[in-house]
Amino acid sequence: MLFDTHAHLTDEAFDGDRADVLHRIRENGVSLLLNAGSSVRSSEDSVKLAEEYDFIYASVGVHPEDCKDMTSNDLQKIAALAQNKKAVAVGEIGLDYHYDFTPRDVQKRHFSEQLELARELDLPVIIHDREAHGDTLEIVKKIKVQRGVFHCYSGSLEMAKELLGLGYLLSFTGVITFKNAARSHEIVKWLPDDKIMIETDSPYLSPEPLRGKRNDPGNVRLVAQKIAEIKGKTLQEIAALTMKNGREFFNI
Ligand SMILES: [Zn+2]
Repeated sequence: MLFDTHAHLTDEAFDGDRADVLHRIRENGVSLLLNAGSSVRSSEDSVKLAEEYDFIYASVGVHPEDCKDMTSNDLQKIAALAQNKKAVAVGEIGLDYHYDFTPRDVQKRHFSEQLELARELDLPVIIHDREAHGDTLEIVKKIKVQRGVFHCYSGSLEMAKELLGLGYLLSFTGVITFKNAARSHEIVKWLPDDKIMIETDSPYLSPEPLRGKRNDPGNVRLVAQKIAEIKGKTLQEIAALTMKNGREFFNI
């Protein structure tokens, strides 16, 4: 039984066959799924999907690429959605300096205010940090939340140590199956068993050998498999410990 702790099943990539995909992944052993919001609209959709399916839970939040025109009214909407009992986290929120779709000071402001919201609501946060390690670290040190995870972790081992000191967990996607993932392997090997979660980030980031195709939560098995290999454990052990970590983290 596997827990995909970060996927976007509300993405339009699944518009043609969402129900089929969800049926199939259940049969294939994905027994829990966290559907991540990334805008007000996708957060609404995320909560709706979670209300429809027992095994799906939602996070609500505005992604750095989508927060360019975010208003205080939008923040209120996210706060209201977070009251739903299937909404178990604030996210994904953070900083993304890869594309710079949103000015950096605007990203930082909306990241900070959503961290504060999570703290007020006593909800865990899901953090997106792409090529913005220094600034992300600075902000999470300043605004401390009860629980948090760095999704698709791409920082250094040194940063990982700092984050664990702050109480954060780290989560890994199919990127760890790519050829150039040596640094992530080193971090996975070092990371204590109770600090790791697994995810697909579907429909993005398909693991090898499916790279380039639409990803779906069933492929979280390939992520678990790779982690088992790196840590010298069995797939069953990794499935069990990431399930336990995910349930505790999201309080499910
Ligand atoms: Zn995502």
